Formats: sequence, C-alpha cells, structure tokens
Amino acid sequence: MSESFGFQAEISQLLDLIINTFYSNKEIFLREIISNASDALDKIRYASLTDPSVLDTEKELKIQIIPDKENKLLIIRDTGIGMTKADMVNNLGTIAKSGTKGFMEALNSGADISMIGQFGVGFYSAYLVADRVQFVSKHNDDDQYIWESSAGGTFTITPDTTNPPIGRGSEVRLFLKEDQLEYLEEKKIKDIVKKHSEFISYPIQLAVTKEVEKEVEDDEEEVAEDDEDKPKIEEVDDEEDKPKEKKTKKIKEKEVTNEELNKTKPIWTRNPSDITTEEYAAFYKSLTNDWEDHLAVKHFSVEGQLEFKAILFIPKRAPFDLFESKKKRNNIKLYVRRVFIMDDCEDLIPEYLNFVKGIVDSEDLPLNISRETLQQNKILKVIRKNIVKKTLDVISEIAEDKDNFKKFYESFGKNLKLGIHEDAQNRSKLAEFLRFFSTKSGEEQTSLKDYITRMPEIQKSIYYLTGESLAATRDSPFLEVLKKKGFEVLLLVDPIDEYAITQLKEFENKKLICVSKEGLELEETEDEKKAREAEAAEFNDLCTTVKDALGDKVEKVVVSNRITDSPCVLVTGQFGWSSNMERIMKAQALRDSSMSSYMASKKTLELNPTNAIVKELKRKVAEDKADKSVRDLTYLLFETALLTSGFTLEEPGSFAKRIHRMIALGLDVDDDEPAPASSSDAPPPLESVSTSAMEEID
Ligand code: ADP
Ligand code: MG
Repeated sequence: MSESFGFQAEISQLLDLIINTFYSNKEIFLREIISNASDALDKIRYASLTDPSVLDTEKELKIQIIPDKENKLLIIRDTGIGMTKADMVNNLGTIAKSGTKGFMEALNSGADISMIGQFGVGFYSAYLVADRVQFVSKHNDDDQYIWESSAGGTFTITPDTTNPPIGRGSEVRLFLKEDQLEYLEEKKIKDIVKKHSEFISYPIQLAVTKEVEKEVEDDEEEVAEDDEDKPKIEEVDDEEDKPKEKKTKKIKEKEVTNEELNKTKPIWTRNPSDITTEEYAAFYKSLTNDWEDHLAVKHFSVEGQLEFKAILFIPKRAPFDLFESKKKRNNIKLYVRRVFIMDDCEDLIPEYLNFVKGIVDSEDLPLNISRETLQQNKILKVIRKNIVKKTLDVISEIAEDKDNFKKFYESFGKNLKLGIHEDAQNRSKLAEFLRFFSTKSGEEQTSLKDYITRMPEIQKSIYYLTGESLAATRDSPFLEVLKKKGFEVLLLVDPIDEYAITQLKEFENKKLICVSKEGLELEETEDEKKAREAEAAEFNDLCTTVKDALGDKVEKVVVSNRITDSPCVLVTGQFGWSSNMERIMKAQALRDSSMSSYMASKKTLELNPTNAIVKELKRKVAEDKADKSVRDLTYLLFETALLTSGFTLEEPGSFAKRIHRMIALGLDVDDDEPAPASSSDAPPPLESVSTSAMEEID
C-alpha cells in the first residue's frame, strides 16, 4: 500500500529549480549521495560503540556504487543506519530545513548549485541527473520501505515487498535522464569519486563488470543441454600440451567484481611534508562540503604523555548561519585510533572558534567513550587546549599577510571578539588580532600593536570611543582635546566591540580607556594641571546652578578637560554603560527593568570653560543667580549634549519646540502659538528669551 505525500512548498520550489536551472557541473550529485551514506555509516558506527548488537543486521560498513546500464539505473548503497518510515517522511520532503530557502536565495544572487551541501539539502541534487529517484531503506527499528518521487510536488512511501531485503542501510536508485547516461561509465564514476570523495573513511566499492575468459572442461553433452544465450565457446588448440582424452575450452563470461576506489590511508596519518596543498584542499572539501579551498591549514601531532594527530582548517568565509545559536555544529570530527567516534563533540573546541573545521585522532581515548563521560575526560581537556593553541598559531600565520588577514577578519572578527570576552586564558593573544578604525587610521583598520607605536611619548594609555558608526564617532566632541594633544583614539563601531574591550581592560600593560566615561585622566603638564584646577574653582558656582536646574537628569556637573570647542558633553560612570551600550541594550529589548536602572548610564555633564556660551552663562549666574533664562538655556545645552554624546532624547517633541522657538526668534517671525503675555514686541536677543515662553514647553 503506497502512501502519497506532498512536498513542503519550499522543497517543491527547490526541486523545480534544480530540475530547470541550466547547470553543467551535475557530477556533484554523487558527492552528496556518498556524503549522506558516509554520515549514515558514522551514525551506526557510533551506536555500535555502546551496543555492538546493532551491527548484527550487517557487519561490514561500506558504500557500493552499482551502475546498471540495461536499466539506465545508478544505485548507491550503504550499510549505514538506514531510515525508518517516519525518518523518510521527516527527512525527505515534508519539512523544510533552514537552508532550503537560504540556498534558493543564494542561487538567485548568483551562487552555484554545487554549494547545495552546505545548506543541508544535498539529497535533492539527485534530480540534477535523474528524473525519478527511489530511496530504499532499512533501519533496525522498522521494515524496509521505498521512498519514491519524480519531483512534481509529490512523493510516495511504500512498504518494500518487491526488492530483496537489504539487511540494513539504504539504497539510492537513480533512474538517469536520457542525456545523463555517462554517469554509468566506470571511468566517469572513478574520476568523480577520486575528485570529490577520496577521503571518505569507509570503503567505496564500484561494481565493475568485466568479460573474463574462463577455461572449462569441454563436456559435449552439457553444451548441448545449455541455453542458447550462454557465452560463446571457442575451441582451444591444445593438443600439444594436453593429454588426449580431456578436452577444454575457453568461454567469455561477465563477471562482477567490487573495486575499491578510495584506498588511500587517512591523510592525517601521513607525513605533512608529503601532502600537497591540493590534497589538503580535497580533504577539506570532502570534510566540509565547502566548494572553495580553505584559507589556511594546520596539520600537527602531539606526542608524549598523550598522543594525537589533528588537521585544522580555517575556511575562506563564514557559513550563512555562523551565529545561528541553536544549530548543532559538526566542525571537528573525533576519531579514536582511526575509528570515527563523533562529529558533534562540543568539548573539542570553544564556541567562539566555531568556524574551525577539521579532525582529531586520539591514541588514548577509549573507543566506547560516551558523550557524557567525554565532558569530564582529562585527555579531551588537553586535546582541546592544544587545538585552541594551534588555531591561534594558524591565525597568527594568516596575519602575516595583510590582505589575507583582512578577509579573515571580515569573516571571523566577531568570533575573535567573542573569544576575548569568553577566553580569559588566551585573551591577550587574541587581542593581538583585533583591528579597529581610529582617528589616525584612515580607511584601514589598525592593530593595537601598531597603535602603540604611534603613541606620543607622554601618552600612557590607549584611548577608544564606542558609537554607532564611523560617521557618528569621527567628529564626536569627546575627541576634541585628544586630537589636539595628538593622541590617537580607536573608534569602535561594532556592537560587540564594547563587550570585548571592557573585558580586555589593557593591552601590553597599557590601560584601555573609554573617552566618553568620567574620570578621564589625560596626561597633562604641571601648568595644564594648575590652569585646570583654577578653572574648576572659578566655575564652581555655575556648576552648582546648572545641576540645580537639571535635577536628577544628571548625576554631577563639572568642568571638562576633554573638550575645547563644544560647550558641553555628557559622560557616563566608569563602570556603567556608555551611551553606546545603552543604545545597544535598548535595541535588544534585553532590558529587564531592574538591570537597566542598575546599569543605565549615570550621566555627568561636563562644561567647557573656554566656550563662549558657557562663559556667558557663567557671567549671568554671577550677576543674578535667579536669572530664569539660565535654566532654559541649560536645558537646551543638556539636550544637545545628549545627541552629540550618543544618547537618545527622551522627549524629542519638547526639544524640537525649544529649537523651533529659537529658529522663530532668529528669523524674526511670529510664532503660530498664541504669544505668552510676557513676550515683548521686539524679538529679544537669544540669551534673554522669555522665560515663561520657554517654561511652557518644559
Ligand atoms: P544533510 O545531509 O545536510 O542533512 P541531505 O539533503 O543531504 O541533507 O539529507 C537529508 C537527510 O536525509 C539527512 O539528514 C539524513 O537524515 C537523511 N539521509 C539522506 N541519505 C541518507 C542515507 N544514505 N542513510 C540514512 N539517512 C539518509
Ligand atoms: Mg547531505
């Protein structure tokens, strides 16, 4: 009894695309089918480590390719875990994987069909060469079933009562399109397997049909009885060496032998100096489904108390779902004495290095190690430590070539920053890889090391400013004094930068200092210091008055040492959020209110004693503390400082009204709103804007 199913809509579209897109590199279908077979074999082997009886249904773990020219049928068979009926429904058509859509989008924007494996939908590449596909499968927990589809929106699943039992595993039967029959040719198959699947760690056998000559006894009677379609018989001239009575003849017979196509020994067991870049690239591709070569590779072995070999690869670019957090990653395959154990061992490499691919083969771990005991395993901890170290080494090697490193950093810079946050042990090493824009770096990004070489002698610390974009930070008032002093400031515009840098705290014994936070101690000469202290005393009154006007909108009002042009800036507490962090947290809606009131920026207003507006304000306060216009101007200054310091306005409406009123004054036009009684006829100069008019919109 066949059951019919509809393909999930996106999968249906994907199949249409695969069938109808003109694409010449169709051979990759075989790589995908073989890769699935290898995955299925991995699964049964892993299951057998804890329960050897799962292999009773079929001991030998292998992949077979069987071309059947008569029926234009290519069969790929594996003795892997197989699929139950439910597996077939779930895995082959009714549920779209996250990559389905991603792959179609990628195709539309010029990607190549050969990338299909990376998106987790490789099976469907079968329709590049076949117009009808059967998937026969036997899982230990279920009967043998046939999945079948000729695309077109539907597939069927049928209990298999026609084919011979396959024991355990799967058989993909590709009914080839008329113009794709070349994939039945021995040579073609051998070439493709060599090219794409050489490093599969199970034997891949090709069923090869040969005509062989056989010598058989010439039995007159039997020949007579034999069928017509028996192979041709030739009389053999053997009177000379053979005794007279026994006659033999040679017959030609078709004989099928299995030829193993991937006999190379595991690449990681070989001597690195004997392995070519091409071989590494081929291994990398078979390991990862990547269509491009790797960016860098590290092949090493550790000996001594503990022994293992490993190959680590850095890809050229990030996968489309690098930061999809729930995704299980199969990045580093774990082997024990050449036996594959698992490919999703999370304890082999820290999360932040989730872009590294490769294999590790340990001599010391027990074969039947379980996921649970792995976590506690001391050997694994040492392996992990070594993997991290070697990964950092290979990144250092990439960093020797500026252009290469730039590409690497674009793809994986975020990972390094995460690493700084997470990996205290390697923090300072990771910090060497950081690159930031700065007030002196122009279009290029600079390393912290290079920054230090440019520091003037008097400068003791590394300065940085965080913000939303280069445009928003480049002209920030926070940079005014630093620029004047010739101090370079790093501009951190990636949201993750601030997390990383606040963890880092220092680099090569130089403190990392945020220039928008309070307590900025700029290296200054004795004279500068004296002058500043004198100013502070002089402006004491103004500061108190401004603080009174603003109430709890600010924590403190002080004289600034970091601005020379702007009238004022708002700085935040050293250990609280910066304005940038406040913006990020608001955007993330992560704010649970208790946290935000605790962390939210406590603002200090810093006034610039050399600024004309501030000076005038000081004069007014000295003249008359009660001057009401002081309060209004203070508000305008405060709100403008919010903007230039990277905060958002809480009440943009009232700010806008204040500004509009000023524009009206400047243009000498009458306000639309009914003029308050106290407005004088002649437009007042700015500093004497009518108090009541301003009060209204407070
Ligand atoms: P992926 O291999 O990335 O998961 P595919 O489209 O290649 O995506 O395969 C889809 C799913 O079908 C696999 O995840 C697996 O569950 C199942 N599958 C495919 N081929 C086999 C096979 N030979 N044996 C068992 N399961 C298979
Ligand atoms: Mg696959």
